[in-house]
Amino acid sequence: MEKGNISVSTENIFPIIKRSLYSEQEIFLRELVSNAVDAIQKIKHLSRTGEFKAELGDLKVSVAVDKEAKTITISDTGIGMTAEEVKKYLNVVAFSGAEEFIKKYQEAGEQGDIIGKFGLGFYSAFMVADKVEVNSLSHQEGVEAVRWINDGSIEYSIEKGERESRGTDVILHVSEDATEYLENVRIRNILDKYAKFLPVEIHFEDEVINNPNPIWRKAPSELEDKDYQEFFKELYPFDQEPLFWIHLNVDFPFNLTGVLYFPKIRNDIDPKRNNIKLFSRQVFITDEVNQIVPDYLMLLQGVIDSPDIPLNVSRSYLQGDPNVKKISNYITRKVGDKLLEIFREDRGKFEEKWKDINIFVKYGMVTDEKFKEKAQKFALYQNMDGNYFTFDEYKEKIAGNQTDKDENLVVLYATNKEDQDIFISSALGNGYDVLLFDGIVDNHFIDNMERQSEKVRFVRVDSDTVDKLVPKEDDSKDEGELVLTEEQENKLKEVFTNALEGKTWAIQLGKLGSEQLPVMLTRPEFMRRMKEMASVGGQDFMREMPDSVNVVINTEHPLVQGMIDKDEDPELVRELLDLAMLGQGMLTGKELTGFIHRSIKMLNK
Ligand code: ADP
Repeated sequence: MEKGNISVSTENIFPIIKRSLYSEQEIFLRELVSNAVDAIQKIKHLSRTGEFKAELGDLKVSVAVDKEAKTITISDTGIGMTAEEVKKYLNVVAFSGAEEFIKKYQEAGEQGDIIGKFGLGFYSAFMVADKVEVNSLSHQEGVEAVRWINDGSIEYSIEKGERESRGTDVILHVSEDATEYLENVRIRNILDKYAKFLPVEIHFEDEVINNPNPIWRKAPSELEDKDYQEFFKELYPFDQEPLFWIHLNVDFPFNLTGVLYFPKIRNDIDPKRNNIKLFSRQVFITDEVNQIVPDYLMLLQGVIDSPDIPLNVSRSYLQGDPNVKKISNYITRKVGDKLLEIFREDRGKFEEKWKDINIFVKYGMVTDEKFKEKAQKFALYQNMDGNYFTFDEYKEKIAGNQTDKDENLVVLYATNKEDQDIFISSALGNGYDVLLFDGIVDNHFIDNMERQSEKVRFVRVDSDTVDKLVPKEDDSKDEGELVLTEEQENKLKEVFTNALEGKTWAIQLGKLGSEQLPVMLTRPEFMRRMKEMASVGGQDFMREMPDSVNVVINTEHPLVQGMIDKDEDPELVRELLDLAMLGQGMLTGKELTGFIHRSIKMLNK
């Protein structure tokens, strides 16, 4: 028996490991099982190259819990270690980075997956164990088995061991404060999380708990639709079927494989939800992929596997990493290509799925120039008839009728088919086409499109009276017969101002024709849009500004004409105003109640 000291420059590493990494304690199992898997990959490799000539036997990792003995054992039939190797690897190498680790940890000040990031691997065992025993028999011919024991101090002992077959057992004597890991359920959950797709069979409670050949490691040509669908179910058993998927597969200039799924997304997205799982050589690392995948693609689901994504660094570093940037660009390009391909091959199918994917396409277009360039070709615009157009198609469709006097193309839209019906009907009645923009990113999308397209304006149907939506050169209507004197105009305005009871809305007179409504409320495009965008962007001062509303009084309507040169009837004025508010969906509460009572009273008369 030999005793010695573990070479660490910082003696108090164990307490640090134990305390500071408490939140990620469970990853000890990932580290030890990964080591066991590596040991098996190594022996396979030696066998392939002919360096190892004996039987490979059963290649597997087994995890077992002994509640009475208070141990967890991780066994493998891998390459094994000689006494020299145990000393070299477990005593020295694992700690070569200890000093750096502590320094970085203190700088980063970040909780989290530090052990994994800094490659302390084997030593994470001490997060849950106060004594660790390793029994190993190397694959090398004629060597003796070895037993290494460490009780969490910097002292270890090493002696002749008893293991009879090639491989390694790591036995954790679980400490008093970690007894939760002596429950099989707990261990199974951890294995499910981290070991589900490890490339070597993992046995636990007489079962193989993993799928060693997940589809992302296979060639796309070997796979059928149903393979992708089944794999999706395996990853997200409770989710609806995905719409489509992309198989990622590159070797150069970085190595990346994976399958990304487009889920059904409606309006209830939660960008914070972690949907994509990141693996490194089939070991689950994290589902926080925010730096690697552009924001708008965070809505996708699936798997990315890359040994080239640095796992051992802090987040701010990740941002500047050239590989990470390249990976993110690659994913963006693949997603764009895939969507364009579906659009070109089967436009009908693409249109059917548009409702589900439009949020993330638009989000991508707004936030990523490169993606936008490509997406312009397949992003769709839906009109009130339910027909879909690309932007180019649409511009052509409306050019004849919706070009204003300044040669601007006016794209009319509604954000709610039901609420804005009165304005939609009136625009359609005027021969215009109206688009539907009812998604949560549409405000920003419209703004972005408008800024980047020359001579195109987006105008919501209720932003003005229908005659002014697409201003034309000859506004001859103004030359009508009914010209009010200044005094008559002022009187009308005054009557309605009084009825507003303190609302700061602007009053306008307009000659809209006797068939149009007597009073309408319009909401000027610019102010409304600014305010709505601010409410998404969190700019409080904008959100608190009053709504900008115009009260347009149609002086050609008989009801309004009836008021001219007469004593006003306050009830009628109020009624007209309420009807206008109703048309804008603004009549609620006490005002709505008052309106109903007044209307009934008027009907009774
Ligand atoms: P890393 O895995 O990052 O190299 P570890 O501390 O986890 O760091 O392990 C140190 C070394 O110990 C490994 O590189 C490997 O050579 C050896 N080792 C650990 N576990 C085993 C095992 N189960 N079988 C064979 N060798 C092992």
